[in-house]
Amino acid sequence: MISIAKFYALALVVLFSAQLHAQSPGPVTLVKAGRLLDPRTGNVLTPAFVLIEGNKVKRVGSSSQIGLPAGAKIIDLGSATLLPGLIDGHTHLFLDIIIPPKAESLRHNNGEFAPGLLLAIVESPTKRSLMGAQAAREDLQSGITTVRNLGHSGIDGDTELRDAINAGRLVGPRILASGRKLIAQGSYLQNLNPALSDAILRQEFLLVHGTDQARQAVRENVFQNADLIKVTEGDDISVAELTAVVEEAHRQQLKVAVHAGDTVSIQTAIDAGADSIEHGNDATDEQLKQMKEKSIFLDLTPTFYDAFFMKIAEPSIVLPPDIHAEEVSRAARVKARYEQLVQRVMKSGVRFAEGSDMCWFFPGKTRGEASMNTLVKLHAAGMPALDVIRSMTSSAAEMLGWQDRVGAVEPGKFADLVAVSGNPLADITELEHVRFVMKDGRVVRNDFIKP
Ligand SMILES: [Zn+2]
Repeated sequence: MISIAKFYALALVVLFSAQLHAQSPGPVTLVKAGRLLDPRTGNVLTPAFVLIEGNKVKRVGSSSQIGLPAGAKIIDLGSATLLPGLIDGHTHLFLDIIIPPKAESLRHNNGEFAPGLLLAIVESPTKRSLMGAQAAREDLQSGITTVRNLGHSGIDGDTELRDAINAGRLVGPRILASGRKLIAQGSYLQNLNPALSDAILRQEFLLVHGTDQARQAVRENVFQNADLIKVTEGDDISVAELTAVVEEAHRQQLKVAVHAGDTVSIQTAIDAGADSIEHGNDATDEQLKQMKEKSIFLDLTPTFYDAFFMKIAEPSIVLPPDIHAEEVSRAARVKARYEQLVQRVMKSGVRFAEGSDMCWFFPGKTRGEASMNTLVKLHAAGMPALDVIRSMTSSAAEMLGWQDRVGAVEPGKFADLVAVSGNPLADITELEHVRFVMKDGRVVRNDFIKP
């Protein structure tokens, strides 16, 4: 048996060698490109040299005089434009919903579109994990180097996927995982067999019913090492209950993201002191003002802007003429309302970021392509390109509380970079065709190298 003294001596040796290991800087790489866009200022560095040591940015400059240590690897991206790695502030890696025929929704589900969300719960957790890993890899390949996963991942799907990626077992973005989503009884569950619903519910959600249970739900997610708390407010959780969630989460140093779409739910989220309001589609000007005053982020999700439902439904479902016509006019209304929201948000001065809310199977696109196709839509909805880029880089980093790690290319931050061929300020859709991706100083994708 080892003596206590020997044990501590051994522990010291282990600690010391671990420190030595931590001090070794790791491989040095120089990335050269025609331009580097800083989303915070809009400044463009031409040409751009980014020196990377290990997984961090060491120096950034406009000439190779930034100091190139012997043996450094050089990656020359020609005239490409470099940007910080992209951030999706709201996604669901463990959902892959296929739109059911309308008739089925109407006949079996009271017209509510819940079955896609519910079916995911009863699927094999192993299958979901593997599909989540695929979605994560596809996000990264499209330049999304950080995501906030906000629920619908089983009990521990997103926290485990995060850890597997961080341990190098899988390739994927940095994940901030919310663990199980906090909901009120009834929400999402209206079509479940009541005899089974409680058991099924706990596979995916935590109930908020009273302030004690609200605090307990936060603690259960803390136990699973969640990075933040996600609550769905559908005018069914009281200000007192949501305040209890926020207080407990803040006590545990976690932020709270509240799904709120209608005016009443948005007000509850504001009054309870949420850190971010997800979607916020019906926010009034007065509410945007209150959010600005309380420093609450608005996380815009332009998912359904631009007839998205038709794009994902039509390749697999023949819509009857009346439903087709109904969808066309609904899409036009959604588009007009969203354009108004974007204008009001810009005018209000509220802090905002964006998320794809991607949870759908988009025929013909990978998960990453579907997410990026959504994130660039804010420009079509009337937002200047630089603000759109900020909302998925520097502003998103602030919303996550990770502004010291990601969202800009500067010394000390993680070496997460993307590059596109053209100028994303002139053509935002360049971001749908990212040609170079680096995460943690490692190249994930480089289409600039000719085969
Ligand atoms: Zn969502």
